Amino acid sequence: MSEFLNTPNIDLYLVVGILFVFGLIEFLLGHYKNSGRKSDDWILEGIGFLVVAFTKSLIVAAVFFLGKAVLPASFEVLSAWSLLPAFVFYLLIDDVLQYWYHRSAHEYNWLWKHHRVHHAAKEMGILTSYRNSWVYYLLMPNLWWGGIATFLGLGPSVLLGLIVKQVVVTSTHSTWRWDDVLYRSRILKPIAWVVEHIFITPAFHHAHHGRDQSDHVSDPNGNFGNTFSMWDQLFGTAKFTRKFPAAYGLQTDPGDKWTAHLLYPFVKSGKEGSEIGKGHQKKKNTGVEPLQTTLEKGTYLYCQCGYSSTQPWCNGSHHGSKFKPMVVEIEKERKASICTCKLTKSPPYCDDSHLSLTEQPA
Ligand SMILES: [Zn+2]
Repeated sequence: MSEFLNTPNIDLYLVVGILFVFGLIEFLLGHYKNSGRKSDDWILEGIGFLVVAFTKSLIVAAVFFLGKAVLPASFEVLSAWSLLPAFVFYLLIDDVLQYWYHRSAHEYNWLWKHHRVHHAAKEMGILTSYRNSWVYYLLMPNLWWGGIATFLGLGPSVLLGLIVKQVVVTSTHSTWRWDDVLYRSRILKPIAWVVEHIFITPAFHHAHHGRDQSDHVSDPNGNFGNTFSMWDQLFGTAKFTRKFPAAYGLQTDPGDKWTAHLLYPFVKSGKEGSEIGKGHQKKKNTGVEPLQTTLEKGTYLYCQCGYSSTQPWCNGSHHGSKFKPMVVEIEKERKASICTCKLTKSPPYCDDSHLSLTEQPA
């Protein structure tokens, strides 16, 4: 085993091999024939793959350089650890770091701009996971942890972890929904429960890529996990539906070029209203008076962040904040007064809280 793990460039061969197997399955299932992918998607994801490989090597080299200069006595200090405990130790730390980093990318605006491209994909696919800006990869804490663990002598565990992660991540981004069969068979359903409560499944992760919550499946503000679903379960962001989103991508997408997506903030988008455009600033669009309207039967997404330009409804502007839209179900057509000031205690309906905004001090 250790001889195999020590083969030069084995990590690259394994990653490319796993991508090739899943890519072949996608091809045989006919996904590329009906694909609406643009050349920009292919360029972005192909270069994204190279960016990840380059950044990983850069980080490992930086860790080794700094480690040998500052803490030379720590070099390979853990190399006597046996493979299994070292592997579990490495992988759990890697995965919890990635969970919080990914979650932060959805909750903090400056980091969202580097992850937004990941969610601009209108279709899933084996290379979708390589859509992030270069800065996003450079700051990824688990890539640094991989370098540190290798420096400490856990190289074989890091490599094994890479294989496990690559299989899970490629499968959860792939258009091949291998878990669907588990949900449809009565006999296999208990297995589905066990699998989805340990590992991230395609259904679980596809929901994270879904366009918005109105299909009752998608939750782009949840399901942040990478390999294991326990962090989402533990920190209250898991949503298991065993279904797949009605649509993928961003609610508002100006169609930025791959150069801006990958190289922001060094290259900015020239597209009107782009979040990664020059001088773009989020601004509140809350109003004072409620919207008097007739709501037809259906599902509505009520804006809670106040940034949406389609008030009082959500247009996806909450990305990069801790807000998410409220899903409102209307069973029967009705007249309603919808709050636009966001001060109401009974959202989405107006409770006259906006009067406090216009009251003159005595
Ligand atoms: Zn995400």
